[in-house]
Amino acid sequence: MAHPPAPYSFHGLSVSGMVAVGLGLLTLVLLWMKRRWKIKAVRLREELQRLKSAPLQQEFRIERYDVLWFPVVTAAQGSREVLEIKPGVPHCKACAVPLSSPLGKKEWACSQCGSKFVGSLVDVMVTDSVAQQALKYFQERHPNHRKLVK
Ligand SMILES: [Zn+2]
Repeated sequence: MAHPPAPYSFHGLSVSGMVAVGLGLLTLVLLWMKRRWKIKAVRLREELQRLKSAPLQQEFRIERYDVLWFPVVTAAQGSREVLEIKPGVPHCKACAVPLSSPLGKKEWACSQCGSKFVGSLVDVMVTDSVAQQALKYFQERHPNHRKLVK
């Protein structure tokens, strides 16, 4: 006498067997998703760390002695210290192009409109005042950043 088939079965698997297989697969999928999320989270954390440690740079536009300057202030984001202030080169106010000094810094000229400027335009006194102004602007925007006294 043959045994009657189990009331609920599929290809010889009982319902509880199918549930067990299903749960097993679900667990595998969840573990795989968790692993992927973990990798993603680590990558995001690394990216955030990189962004935090990258120096902050900001360019300003300053008008001084009839020319334009575009000084760049660089600061460390972590320690909030101003690392460097580069005054840059003078630019023609009318054309906004960098001035050149073919006569070895005795005279500065605009290649576009031909305006000429005295060589003392880039004296240390002038570049210092441009840098000071840039620092002031920078600190207005980032009050927690300070410049180390050198
Ligand atoms: Zn010009």
